[in-house]
Amino acid sequence: MNVNQSVPPVPPFGQPQPIYPGYHQSSYGGQSGSTAPAIPYGAYNGPVPGYQQTPPQGMSRAPPSSGAPPASTAQAPCGQAAYGQFGQGDVQNGPSSTVQMQRLPGSQPFGSPLAPVGNQPAVLQPYGPPLTSAQVTTQLSGMQISGAVAPAPPSSGLGYGPPTSLASASGSFPNSGLYGSYPQGQAPPLSQAQGHPGIQTPQRSAPSQASSFTPTASGGPRLPSMTGPLLPGQSFGGPSVSQPNHVSSPPPQALPPGTQMTGPLGPLPPMHSPQQPGYQPQQNGSFGPARGPQPNYGSPYPAAPTFGSQPGPPQPLPPKRLDPDAIPSPQLSELPPQQKTRHRIDPDAIPSPIQVIEDDRNNRGTEPFVTGVRGQVPPLVTTNFLVKDQGNASPRYIRCTSYNIPCTSDMAKQAQVPLAAVIKPLARLPPEEASPYVVDHGESGPLRCNRCKAYMCPFMQFIEGGRRFQCCFCSCINDVPPQYFQHLDHTGKRVDAYDRPELSLGSYEFLATVDYCKNNKFPSPPAFIFMIDVSYNAIRTGLVRLLCEELKSLLDFLPREGGAEESAIRVGFVTYNKVLHFYNVKNSLAQPQMMVVSDVADMFVPLLDGFLVNVNESRAVITSLLDQIPEMFADTRETETVFVPVVQAGMEALKAAECAGKLFLFHTSLPIAEAPGKLKNRDDRKLINTDKEKTLFQPQTGAYQTLAKECVAQGCCVDLFLFPNQYVDVATLSVVPQLTGGSVYKYASFQVENDQERFLSDLRRDVQKIVGFDAVMRVRTSTGIRAVDFFGAFYMSNTTDVELAGLDGDKTVTVEFKHDDRLNEESGALLQCALLYTSCAGQRRLRIHNLALNCCTQLADLYRNCETDTLINYMAKFAYRGVLNSPVKAVRDTLITQCAQILACYRKNCASPSSAGQLILPECMKLLPVYLNCVLKSDVLQPGAEVITDDRAYIRQLVTSMDVAETNVFFYPRLLPLTKSPIESTTEPPAVRASEERLSNGDIYLLENGLNLFLWVGASVQQGVVQSLFSVSSFSQITSGLSVLPVLDNPLSKKVRGLIDSLRAQRSRYMKLTVVKQEDKLEMLFKHFLVEDKSLSGGASYVDFLCHMHKEIRQLLS
Ligand SMILES: [Zn+2]
Repeated sequence: MNVNQSVPPVPPFGQPQPIYPGYHQSSYGGQSGSTAPAIPYGAYNGPVPGYQQTPPQGMSRAPPSSGAPPASTAQAPCGQAAYGQFGQGDVQNGPSSTVQMQRLPGSQPFGSPLAPVGNQPAVLQPYGPPLTSAQVTTQLSGMQISGAVAPAPPSSGLGYGPPTSLASASGSFPNSGLYGSYPQGQAPPLSQAQGHPGIQTPQRSAPSQASSFTPTASGGPRLPSMTGPLLPGQSFGGPSVSQPNHVSSPPPQALPPGTQMTGPLGPLPPMHSPQQPGYQPQQNGSFGPARGPQPNYGSPYPAAPTFGSQPGPPQPLPPKRLDPDAIPSPQLSELPPQQKTRHRIDPDAIPSPIQVIEDDRNNRGTEPFVTGVRGQVPPLVTTNFLVKDQGNASPRYIRCTSYNIPCTSDMAKQAQVPLAAVIKPLARLPPEEASPYVVDHGESGPLRCNRCKAYMCPFMQFIEGGRRFQCCFCSCINDVPPQYFQHLDHTGKRVDAYDRPELSLGSYEFLATVDYCKNNKFPSPPAFIFMIDVSYNAIRTGLVRLLCEELKSLLDFLPREGGAEESAIRVGFVTYNKVLHFYNVKNSLAQPQMMVVSDVADMFVPLLDGFLVNVNESRAVITSLLDQIPEMFADTRETETVFVPVVQAGMEALKAAECAGKLFLFHTSLPIAEAPGKLKNRDDRKLINTDKEKTLFQPQTGAYQTLAKECVAQGCCVDLFLFPNQYVDVATLSVVPQLTGGSVYKYASFQVENDQERFLSDLRRDVQKIVGFDAVMRVRTSTGIRAVDFFGAFYMSNTTDVELAGLDGDKTVTVEFKHDDRLNEESGALLQCALLYTSCAGQRRLRIHNLALNCCTQLADLYRNCETDTLINYMAKFAYRGVLNSPVKAVRDTLITQCAQILACYRKNCASPSSAGQLILPECMKLLPVYLNCVLKSDVLQPGAEVITDDRAYIRQLVTSMDVAETNVFFYPRLLPLTKSPIESTTEPPAVRASEERLSNGDIYLLENGLNLFLWVGASVQQGVVQSLFSVSSFSQITSGLSVLPVLDNPLSKKVRGLIDSLRAQRSRYMKLTVVKQEDKLEMLFKHFLVEDKSLSGGASYVDFLCHMHKEIRQLLS
């Protein structure tokens, strides 16, 4: 085995970080690896003589419900509950929320449709040459981009950051102005240069400051000289497509009063019926607080048949908060017939994801992102940047939908912009960035607010000469314990602030005391148990042999900490089909011993001593076992398997060993053997698009959920590797991994030859990754907002504590916030995420992330500080949870409505008055429509005929825990042309938009979405290129469906293979390559990922969807 040489790529937590100046190893850090708390924090300055007041330890008070500190005090000593910090009796951030938590099963890989089909005659799908620009141009007519100028939004600040913001900030606003990267003064393609009437030549604006769209220096928006007739509703001039994006479409016949008309009315697109039957005007004139589903779109939208509902009686729904769980089921009906859009819009004239990404890279990829300023919007996830922690958590840990949140709930309701944070508490950092320091506050444990229990952080205000501090979350005044006392400087800052991570950094860790441990005992190191299906299918495919061989070497690479020589993690082994086999691998044995448990109805662990062992001590016995397993079952005829008893056995084994840990389950089939959790095949594609479709996503029985809860209580995380040949009911099987913070991997129709690399790569990464065990996460907020909803792979038994049997560096928890009081512009809003967990070495720790946000009284400030990628991450998770309880169509409609409301509110309150014929998008959200469309037509929400139920459940489960970068590329794949850039170029080629129009048949492209990787070969690609890459002489000789490129010694081959390796290295799962030839049958699969185009499943093209959004917005505004 050659693959395991690399040590885990992550620096162990708690290692002293060389980069952070001023921190000395002797004070923090350093103590990693020990299970007992290390020496108390070397009290830098010691208690001050004369100030002997003891801290009121153990006191806690009732939660603040709004602001005023309650007078009463309740006794809540530490250690009263299993978790000192998070115990239920503990203080929370406010009254219990009433939000219903939904948690659901996960799902499966996405693999099967990708199975190579082999050589296919290139007969399908005649592939037309891509449209030339001229052709595209002639299709223009309806919509236009205009530079109509919005006045600079009311300037309540720069839009980001208080006035103290760094000088560099103003020049580096994301998406700032450079969109439409046409060189100054040069007309963009397809514009007026060609004299097309429909489109404006965007004049490039002055380098725009943030999105506040400043007119050019020459004074205001320029009206371009138009050579063609103006279309109605368009005011031209101004900057290019950038800035408040004005995309116009022909106005309805009846123009609203006040519309500035300068030209003849353009033809009406069919979708613009001015008055939609069924549209309920919002009550309060401001689009209402309603975030709820809109009634069906009254008239079919010809261009995009599947959004909207069908013709038919309008069904006005009461305006309510977006809540798929509560959406009444709409009537299902046939989709409207497809029609040709009458008015094409120039695809180059609508906001381009590629351009936005490029601009952000150019503007923000060069300087580190310094977190010292409140409310700064970080660079996009697609930009490479370094982070310097100066008091707020890095965007690698927390990203928000907006960094400037409305002061009042009324404003928030008006804007409908969800306020959410995507939190990745254990995110891995690039080597250049320091892992969080570990702080030890000694026996008394981490210093916290007595009332709200928030941890000491840079925002706490020290007063009275340093003897007390006021909590930044609840305003409670706390005494500073003598050993923590320090003098203040003339600005009121502690003089040791920069020597203490918890006073100067956004992220750090505390060593936990025994009060933070289960049963008031320090934890034992965790254990890994490998549970291997040895039924006929697993043996026949070669899986068992492959796995056992791999484990022999992989066990040397279990996660370690702090430079420890060997991992503290113990291992155990179980094999099973419809009975379970436990193995005694005690080091004193000459041979492993097997114990069979056939009573799966009442699972117990037949041995304790010798089941969980240290790898090095028992190496010989383990190796012998792994050699024997494939032989022992080589002739098995057993096809049936059990599942629940297997997980239960693993969990019981951890319980008996009194430790947390992880189960690695390798499973092949629907568990139909007689046992608890027995399943039947209930797949039924006929349910798609019916009210019962949701049942496909729901678990078949409650047994899995019950089991998962027991696992969480034990700190037993379950990672599930599935190798199905047919339906395995991923929706049910993934309940356990989902609720325990585990992962699901799926390898459909697994064959060693084809899938070995992918499986082993995933397995190695999964086994080696750093995991926090037996974790609890709490998000505290300053007065005025609170966390009300949570998404991710975890369990919650109350409304505030996110319980994670395991949490790794890839998983995120998304938290939504709501107002419960008015916020204050001056003080802003604070978040503190505290994760209590057991490290791989068995050390109990708290990881703290703090983030301060701005608050605004002007909606424009909200819209200038949003992050669309994070919004989409939240909205996708929200929708994917919604399908468990609501018809998929209702979920889609809800998303569309919310998006329209967000954009309509901007239009009404922030944009300059202009014709209703214009679509005006906030700069920070100009990609919202294109990305939202990708979510709407994703396999979960709008499956094509080839998408199997298990894959939908699998994807649903995966997305639940994805971070922002992952959802970004998953919903809008990257398409990279390979032969356009010089072969010597070492940088990644610039991506092109995910549309067939962008493919040149003389080129080769790589497409990746984080799970899949395609190499598309154009039919007219040069023979030399074919030879260099595939070692065959012509296009026709290339094997379609190939998954490995031949290793050839030429620059092109090296470059392409290098690029593939680099793309794989960026993703958390191995992406299997599929070579697709133009006009080949497999191309259908590939085209599924060209998300700007209309999809076969009926999903709208980007252009059509933009028109549709425009219509929705106009309805809201009229
Ligand atoms: Zn407090």
